[in-house]
Amino acid sequence: MQKNEGGRIVVLDGKLDASYTALPETFYTRMSPNPVRDPQMVKWNEELAEQLGIGQEGALDHLAGNSFPEGAQPIAQAYAGHQFGNFTMLGDGRTILLGEWQNRSGQKVDIQLKGAGRTPYSRGGDGRAALGPMLREYIISEAMHGLGIPTTRSLAVVSTGEPVYRETALPGAVLTRIASSHIRVGTFEYARRFCSETDLIALADYSIERHYPELAGEPDKYVRFFRAVMERQAELLAKWVGAGFIHGVMNTDNMTISGETIDYGPCAFLDAYKPMTAFSSIDIQGRYAYANQPPIAAWNLARFAEALLPLFDSIPAEAVKQAEDTLREFPQIYRKCWLDIMYRKIGITGAKESDEALVEDILGWMEQAGADYTNTFRALTIGDTAALEQAEGFASWKKRWDDRIGAEGIEAARDLMRQSNPSIIPRNHLVEEALDAAGNGDYTLFDRLCELVSDPFSYEPVDSKFTEDPPEPKEPFQTFCGT
Ligand code: AMP
Ligand code: MG
Repeated sequence: MQKNEGGRIVVLDGKLDASYTALPETFYTRMSPNPVRDPQMVKWNEELAEQLGIGQEGALDHLAGNSFPEGAQPIAQAYAGHQFGNFTMLGDGRTILLGEWQNRSGQKVDIQLKGAGRTPYSRGGDGRAALGPMLREYIISEAMHGLGIPTTRSLAVVSTGEPVYRETALPGAVLTRIASSHIRVGTFEYARRFCSETDLIALADYSIERHYPELAGEPDKYVRFFRAVMERQAELLAKWVGAGFIHGVMNTDNMTISGETIDYGPCAFLDAYKPMTAFSSIDIQGRYAYANQPPIAAWNLARFAEALLPLFDSIPAEAVKQAEDTLREFPQIYRKCWLDIMYRKIGITGAKESDEALVEDILGWMEQAGADYTNTFRALTIGDTAALEQAEGFASWKKRWDDRIGAEGIEAARDLMRQSNPSIIPRNHLVEEALDAAGNGDYTLFDRLCELVSDPFSYEPVDSKFTEDPPEPKEPFQTFCGT
């Protein structure tokens, strides 16, 4: 267990911005985090703290919600969203935005406490979070960052010394989430459904200024804004799919305008390549299964377009046409991003159209052979494919690949592949084992796993338990929301 005894001085006092509170009041509620009984720092992200220029000393009380930094104007944000296809009013039911912080490179980020107590948007919830799921968000978000995938980050996990009641009593915790903002597709749906057009414009202008400032002076800035968000989300989805990541709950309130991954509830990485894998316990129909994610992103973007329609054009039919013309481009933008990633994964530069079949066919082979997604690319990267060649069909694919790369190209291909194929991902069984031990106060495996998944392209030799195929699960792995 790490103690709150780091060397640097916390500098949050007097330094937090609150630009979001300049928006119309309908977008937030001012409120303080709710104090907790006995806060302990159980995980502190030294590397992120260094980037942010935040010291650990004195941070504990702020990050537990027991006090807030001088001059801070904490708020809970309002938003709505489509959950599994149905529109609902939501909002920060268990998070408080402490404020905005300028990192060392001058970029503004939100500092938000997750599990900070009830808010006016809590509905039936207790506003709290359990330690296990907050540690899970910590490790998976840091793994995503290590993989080069845009994401919210985790600065700290503080245990609260209070129980939270789920199916049983569990230890409570507060996670400090860092995000380039928490503006969601659902924030725009809220504005469109419940606010005035002036409010909607204020939100759009704020988002443009914060995330797409180059568009601010453009005559058709709102259509361009929509397109820019679509491009960022297409790129994000291609990165998820490329890494074998399943978000698990792609509701519109969990899609950011910044293009960062947010909300690590029921997410997990693929083991065997089965495109219809869904882990989430409540995703009975597989709406958010691995392979459904890109079309669901497009569906979510259509909800975003609907929210923005009045800003596209004053003539409704013209506004709809602008939205449709833009959305129609999503599949090809996505596919280009995805193919670029997949070519890198098999070490191909200067791809030709005929290379698409190499990508499709290795995936087809993995699916039919039940091969592990990450480890197939890993084996190819390190040139250790003997085991794969036992399975029917691999050798003939490999021969085509060898011919394509050519003997003279193999070193360059391997270099590219080492930068594109992770050696280590946060496998479900390892994460569960680490969380179980952490729940008993032993953070050894959790800390080690955090270290390894934060640097997934290193290919340094490690204990084989971190890289080998996972054991056959006795029953399908399940993940849970709202924990
Ligand atoms: P999520 O599934 O994490 O995207 O959460 C959906 C909504 O439920 C959001 O508005 C959350 O703030 C809210 N929520 C989730 N867990 C809780 C909780 N324990 N207490 C209050 N609100 C919650
Ligand atoms: Mg959410």
